Amino acid sequence: MSPPPEPGITPKDSVMAAAARVQTEKPELSLIMDELEAGEAAVELDDKEPQEVLAWAIDRFGKELAICCSFQAEGCALIDMAHKIDPRIRVFTIDTGRMPQETYDVIDKYRQRYGIEVEIFMPDTDVVQQMVTRHGNNLFYNDVNLRLLCCQVRKVLPLRRALMNYSAWVTGLRRDQWATRSNIRKIEIDHDHGGIVKFAPLADWTEDEVWDYIRANDVPYNALYDKGYKSIGCAPCTRAVSEGQDARAGRWWWETGAPKECGMHCAIETGGFEHELAALLGHDGDGHAKS
Ligand code: SF4
Repeated sequence: MSPPPEPGITPKDSVMAAAARVQTEKPELSLIMDELEAGEAAVELDDKEPQEVLAWAIDRFGKELAICCSFQAEGCALIDMAHKIDPRIRVFTIDTGRMPQETYDVIDKYRQRYGIEVEIFMPDTDVVQQMVTRHGNNLFYNDVNLRLLCCQVRKVLPLRRALMNYSAWVTGLRRDQWATRSNIRKIEIDHDHGGIVKFAPLADWTEDEVWDYIRANDVPYNALYDKGYKSIGCAPCTRAVSEGQDARAGRWWWETGAPKECGMHCAIETGGFEHELAALLGHDGDGHAKS
């Protein structure tokens, strides 16, 4: 159990502290970028193809760069592109513990076909145990705040821990995926993760362009796409969608009016789950130790 925090520490600070607590060894990282350089690079890269953005990122950050991949179509295309530029490209994923079997199967295919070691980060067992003991294994179906709590514990915290290992990360985000993603830049400083650099080489690509690339290059993809899925996350929170439905309609489909986001790519603060999360981590939402 972590020691009680100083008074005044916020729930967000608690999240950072929890991520650091389970990070046993922090690698030496030397490559940094300031806002000025990032802004100039954003202008330079904005009309560039994904492969050009990746080549620029690999050249700038080398082994301190990694692709964050949930093995959806976008991440699969990015791995193929990056591997052709530099076979030493690093790839990591967050295994929430609730992934579909098809996702584990496709991870195996990447290990075999590309010979890459997919770095896997998992949630803190203690926190998951406390969460499911308090709220049940299927807590996400009961309340939006419990769903967001589960996403924080199983996705957001492990991502924060993972990103302590890199100076820059590559995501498969596209602007037309959801309203919250419409303004993403191909390169930006990621202030939610300690000021490292975040790349989105596919920002201006459409879903069709991604699939055209996958088919043209025989890129392995998740078998659930052939069963009507268009966006793939955890098994209990993802389902197939009808023809013409929005790709993210199959994510947390039982919720109405809630963001189709988990908090990995944008901060979600509802005034609900944050205090429960702080309680799970060992103190209340005001930063005081539980009595
Ligand atoms: Fe939990 Fe569902 Fe979020 Fe996965 S997608 S972390 S199971 S709430």
